[in-house]
Amino acid sequence: MGKKILLTQEQIQEKVKELAKLIDDFLVKNKRDENDIPIFIAVLTGSIFFFSDLIKNIKSDIIVDYLKVSSYSGSHTTYNVKIQKDIEIDINDKIVFIIEDIVDTGLTLKKIIEFLKDRKPRILKVCSLLDKPSKRLVKVRIDYKGFEIPPEFVVGYGLDYNELYRNVPYIFIYAQNET
Ligand code: 5GP
Repeated sequence: MGKKILLTQEQIQEKVKELAKLIDDFLVKNKRDENDIPIFIAVLTGSIFFFSDLIKNIKSDIIVDYLKVSSYSGSHTTYNVKIQKDIEIDINDKIVFIIEDIVDTGLTLKKIIEFLKDRKPRILKVCSLLDKPSKRLVKVRIDYKGFEIPPEFVVGYGLDYNELYRNVPYIFIYAQNET
């Protein structure tokens, strides 16, 4: 049985360009001056491919930083979200973009938003490549969204199953009998 591809490389890259354009427009309108450099935070590890492709398409000057959280073991959430690696840049009074791979229950994103809001950014925006709205347990706002997907476990393009499949350049539905 072959892999059930959900999103091809072409579909992903087209969406990345669309999102980058929208974000760039927002930055141009909301930057106070030349010294007001927005900070883009990649949520490790799943968002690395998306993050890299997205920021390469952003024309404004930006600064990048990384945050690592853990919330999963295998394909089942532990509902226990921990910050494993903090950002290093001061985000006080800055425009900040959180770049996520996927929002499922929303618990991870909620924790990240609360964590970063404490540092008093001027604007805090969320961009997620994927959204599984049917699995949501807590309300979270996604300002820039790539694709809404069905409640399936997906891998590829940074997303893993027990650390595997991150390097696959497209996104497919993971089924246990296919490995
Ligand atoms: P949430 O806290 O919203 O339930 O989950 C967010 C995190 O769970 C994501 O950043 C991702 O690491 C993981 N996750 C949720 N759904 C999936 C999925 O379908 N595939 C993979 N590989 N990870 C997922």
